[in-house]
Order: sequence, then C-alpha cells, then structure tokens
Amino acid sequence: ERAALEALKGKASVTVDGRKVELAGNIGTPQDIGGLQRNDAEGVGLFRTEFIYMNRDALPSEEEQFWAYREVLEALNPKPAVIRTLDIGGDKKLPYLEIGEEMNPFLGYRAIRLCLSEQEIFKTQLRALLRASVYGNLKIMFPMISSLEELLEAKKILNSVKEQLDQEGIAYADNIEVGMMIEIPSAAIMSDIFAKHVDFFSIGTNDLIQYTCAVDRMNEKIHHLYQPFNPGVLRLIKMVIDNGHKEGIWIGMCGEMAGDKKMIPILLGMGLDEFSMSPTSILPARRLIQSLHYDVVKKLADEVLSMGTADEIETYIEKFNQV
Ligand code: PEP
Ligand code: MG
Repeated sequence: ERAALEALKGKASVTVDGRKVELAGNIGTPQDIGGLQRNDAEGVGLFRTEFIYMNRDALPSEEEQFWAYREVLEALNPKPAVIRTLDIGGDKKLPYLEIGEEMNPFLGYRAIRLCLSEQEIFKTQLRALLRASVYGNLKIMFPMISSLEELLEAKKILNSVKEQLDQEGIAYADNIEVGMMIEIPSAAIMSDIFAKHVDFFSIGTNDLIQYTCAVDRMNEKIHHLYQPFNPGVLRLIKMVIDNGHKEGIWIGMCGEMAGDKKMIPILLGMGLDEFSMSPTSILPARRLIQSLHYDVVKKLADEVLSMGTADEIETYIEKFNQV
C-alpha cells in the first residue's frame, strides 16, 4: 500500500484517457513545506497566511512576512504557490486587533472586508508578497470576495503598492497571477463577470457550503446539514467552473471537498483543473485519478447534477466507486 503510493511520486495526475489536473497542497506555515514535498505536491494551492498573524501579540512586520513568503516560494520554485491574503475574523481572532463583539462573526468583519478597511495591514502584506515574488512562482489570492467592488478595490490597492515599489526601485515579478476565492454564493452566482477580472478562481467549499446552506460549519448540532453532496452546492460549483472556463481561466478548489475520495470523480468530471488538499491526501488522490476515465466521470457529473437529494448523490457515487 505505502509502496504503491511511493511509486506515484514524480508521476502526473492524469486520467487513463489523458485529462491532466494539478494536485496541490494546503499549508499554514513555511514549516509545512517538508510534508508538502514528501507527498509530491505539484504546488501550493492555498497558503493560509493568517497563521503568521496568530499566536503573537503584535502584527508581523513586512520583513518577517517577506521571509516567510520567500521561504515558501523558493522551496517550491518553479512550482506555483497560491498565497492567500489575510483571512482573519470569523472563528480566527487576533488578540492585538480589536474587532469588537459580533452577533454573527462568520457574517461579519473578516478577511478582505477587514483588509479593505484597515488598508495599512493589507498594504504591508502585499508589499511583502510582491518583494518575495522574485523568488518563485507567486499567485496572489483574495478571500471572501462577495461583490465586484471589493475585487476591484483590492486590485487597485495591489496596483498602488506596485507603483510604490516602482518608485522605490524595488523589484517584483511581472507575471503574478491574481485570483479570488469563490466561497460566498453571491460570488459564485456572479462568476461569469468575476472571471473577466481575475486569472483564476479557487473554490472554498468549507465556507461555500456554510453560506449556501446557511449552516454554521462549527455547530455540531446541525452538522448533518453541512452537506458537501447538497445538490445546490454541487450545481453552484459546476456553474463556477463553466463560467471560468468560458473566460479561459483555470479553476481550483482548496476546501476540504477537493481531497475527498468520493468527491474527486464528480469534480474531475465537472472539469476542475486544480485540487488543493492536505498534503497526505495527494498521493491517494493521484492514484484515484489515474484509475478514472474523463469521459466516464463527465457523464457521472452530469447525472449527479440532475439528482434532488444529497443521499441519492452519495449512494450513487459509492456504487460508482465500487465498480
Ligand atoms: C474554504 O472556505 O473552503 C477555505 C479553503 O478557506 P478556510 O477554510 O480557510 O476558510
Ligand atoms: Mg474560507
């Protein structure tokens, strides 16, 4: 079993009939790079930078962040690293950043909302990212975008930071892709328009399920309603992939769903281009993908999208996996 997985290192994540996808890893700190490499990740699909800000008593400096991003980019180079800008708030609090009590923290002041209003924090991070970009293959991703205005504002700030670096004669890569997470239903629904303004989408199913089904992802009592197989969620995902592809951009997924053996055939069939997961899931996912036919999972995805309940979909995919 272990040996069979070991033998997949260095191999492509490709179906029997030649559909190739990218299997990337999710990380929280530069210390996770070892695990990423042991599991032969083809890139980083999500670097949750908030961990650099947590468990301390002051904001991390530009210099500190620069070294963390540089370490990841250099270790991965030339493989891509998608680094997500700060996603604090919700369940993740910072002791040194007072954001006040909120009735609904997951619907509150978090992620890009906080960054667009506390712009110095955002700009410091963007400067560090841009400076680090010359050491590898950086892709910048904005979390929790719910409206086009937010995306355009975030891109405007990124450009202003670039101009500032130009004035100071500080170098940064000129080919940095800029993408956004699709984890809020309004963004999924508007993805045809968003796709004209970014280089990629990464679908954040942890939050997308929570917001689409109105189910708190931390609440045990309603855990049975937190359902990746919910057909509404799957239809939204399909819509996002199709809308992105119409504009010629690539679509990834960095929520837990991307590493789930039961979901991978469906997502592959829907046309997902990049799967980002916990590093230990990568080789098993590669083995699964190498056993599948794209032609077959495309039909599987179509069938699943016509079903009315999560149960029906899950039962169907379980049968599919057995044959
Ligand atoms: C997600 O929402 O799916 C996601 C990847 O982001 P996080 O889990 O960090 O909220
Ligand atoms: Mg999220």
